[in-house]
Amino acid sequence: MRISFHGAARGVTGSCHLLECAGSRILIDCGMFQGGRELHEENAEPFGFEPKEIDVLLLTHAHLDHCGRIPLLHRRGFRGEIVTTSASRELARLVMLDAAGLEEDEAKRRARHAHRGGRQDTDEPGPLYTTLDALNALDLFGRSAVYGEPLDIAPGARATFHDAGHILGSAFIFLELEEDGQRKTVIFSGDLGSPGRPILRDPADPPHADVVVMESTYGDRTHKELGPLLDELYGAVSATVARGGNVVIPTFALERAQEVLYAFREGRDEGRVPRALQVFLDSPMAISATEIFRHHPECYDREARELLADDRDPFAFPGLHFVRDTADSVALNKVRGGAVLMAGSGMATGGRVRHHLKHNLAHRGNSVVFVGYAARGTLARRIVDGARTVHIFGEEIAVRADVHTINGFSAHADQTELLAWHRRIGGPERTVLVHGEPDVMVRLAARLSGTEVSMPALHERVEL
Ligand code: ZN
Repeated sequence: MRISFHGAARGVTGSCHLLECAGSRILIDCGMFQGGRELHEENAEPFGFEPKEIDVLLLTHAHLDHCGRIPLLHRRGFRGEIVTTSASRELARLVMLDAAGLEEDEAKRRARHAHRGGRQDTDEPGPLYTTLDALNALDLFGRSAVYGEPLDIAPGARATFHDAGHILGSAFIFLELEEDGQRKTVIFSGDLGSPGRPILRDPADPPHADVVVMESTYGDRTHKELGPLLDELYGAVSATVARGGNVVIPTFALERAQEVLYAFREGRDEGRVPRALQVFLDSPMAISATEIFRHHPECYDREARELLADDRDPFAFPGLHFVRDTADSVALNKVRGGAVLMAGSGMATGGRVRHHLKHNLAHRGNSVVFVGYAARGTLARRIVDGARTVHIFGEEIAVRADVHTINGFSAHADQTELLAWHRRIGGPERTVLVHGEPDVMVRLAARLSGTEVSMPALHERVEL
């Protein structure tokens, strides 16, 4: 039995782990590397294993950095079964098709650019994968996992998905393995949620396991409580709107967008934001994701279910506008004040939010509110780190708007929460840290005791 790490190894994106047991090859996640061009180019590299030889893929959740290379996996020969929860399956469909569309657009742009430069457009790399690859990969989604119900996934391997409380449908996966009479249990944490957050349940208690492969995104910090966090959000929005400015919120389409909508609905109900607040969700993907949330109340926590029982929509309020059409999105560039503009991408690496930043960053009185993780090398990170000017669409833009970073608004467990979840496993002999920046992993590792901790490099293999 062995595990090798082909993504999110001493990095936060590209999750992809290969478990080999009793002749079966089981992949856990197949995510995209994100953040800057260099990292993006890493996606086209060989996987580090033969896709044709993978028997089954277990998907922890539908974030792009966990499912984004699945269409490429199919393109390179993978034909095994993909197992995940029904909510993740629906969300992954949206995420993979969106990513394929972006890849196609970007390849077209490169070809045009090459053509103008007098070069052969055939010299330019094509898309990483196409919409057709994504559709083909969707055909491989087989059984749906139900939280707490074991599934036989390969000879000598049984998997149980448990609620990870991270995004809708997210799971950590408990594996019971047997090879040559030797038994081992392994948990892959996927991404773990932060307890007490709205909409979703808290992460489930993990069973005992011999080995845990654990994420460490926020392994070195403690989130703020939800209360002060909401105060900060409502305060920033109310103050900006009162002085006639706009608020730009770069938003991850999954989970964060719904969490922020949920917060605005609640804030409006409680009179903590102006009742006339105008919020534009300028993201077709976030709008579709919100619809998928509505299909899966089985994933909600008690409070969100109570709203439904009262016949109330947890994500809707007067003054909320869904903007799907590009023309309507462009029209928002003319809005000089009084609007909350939520758009993707969350790290401002692409998408409509770059237009809103371009039109709003230079004006004093406006605000940009970051409510999510900003990886190194992204536009979001440069603004968060206090850049005085940034480049957007080839233009130098001064940063004069107020910048708020509401960091605790996280779908990830913080250090205390990770340690508490780890403690409940009851002393795993080994802990493998993944999905974190190396310095963060080192600080988390220093807090783990009674377990052998490792931080494998990309493609490194660990014998169990
Ligand atoms: Zn995630």
